[in-house]
Amino acid sequence: MRSSEPFEVCKNLYVVGSSEISDARDCTVYLIDLGELILIDAGAGPSASHLVKNIEKVGKDPRRLSTVILTHCHIDHSGGARFFQKHFNAKLVIHEHDAKAVEKGDLTMTAARWYNLSFEPTPVDVRLSEEEQRLFFGSHALVCLHTPGHTPGSIAIYIDLDGQRILFGQDIHGPFHPDFGSDLDAWRTSMQKLLNLKADILCEGHFGVYQPGEKVSTYIEHYLESYAEDSL
Ligand SMILES: [Zn+2]
Ligand SMILES: [Zn+2]
Repeated sequence: MRSSEPFEVCKNLYVVGSSEISDARDCTVYLIDLGELILIDAGAGPSASHLVKNIEKVGKDPRRLSTVILTHCHIDHSGGARFFQKHFNAKLVIHEHDAKAVEKGDLTMTAARWYNLSFEPTPVDVRLSEEEQRLFFGSHALVCLHTPGHTPGSIAIYIDLDGQRILFGQDIHGPFHPDFGSDLDAWRTSMQKLLNLKADILCEGHFGVYQPGEKVSTYIEHYLESYAEDSL
């Protein structure tokens, strides 16, 4: 599923940003409505006000935004977080192993240098530190899984909504680089964890949305095979 306009993936889940929708430098940005609004990743930064307009376009009031969950510290995912924190008082959630890069505005670890962008040091509100951590919104739980590999503090998130398991697995595909602290062995273990979830929908970070479940597994297995021989 690709589009140049924001769109609904399924009930209460929307794509509000991507390289085609908001800014060439943005990852795919997902909005979930669980009574309060949650963003999964926030784009590179320059597009933040465009993302706000897109939240309105899918019929949601951005003032209901409570939380931004960052799947990892790279600027294409995290650069917009400060804007939502400042303007909407959104709580910023990230794994502790990627928190320092964001808080320091580390140009290498956040890959900001690659993107030729600056990175405003961004205070973290909630540091994830467990293998698996549940964040509750009303009666719903978003489950954050530590899935190191691409970066040390990469997470994947899943939720069971209306009988479907939805997995947010940004940058499953890498790339892997010593500057990021990538670890291919850890990544292989992480990918197996994601396969075990048997998700019905994969919301990926740069290549869109994959469904049904069979396509989700094929996608993850394809990358496991591509990197089967590699080491860093
Ligand atoms: Zn990344
Ligand atoms: Zn990315």
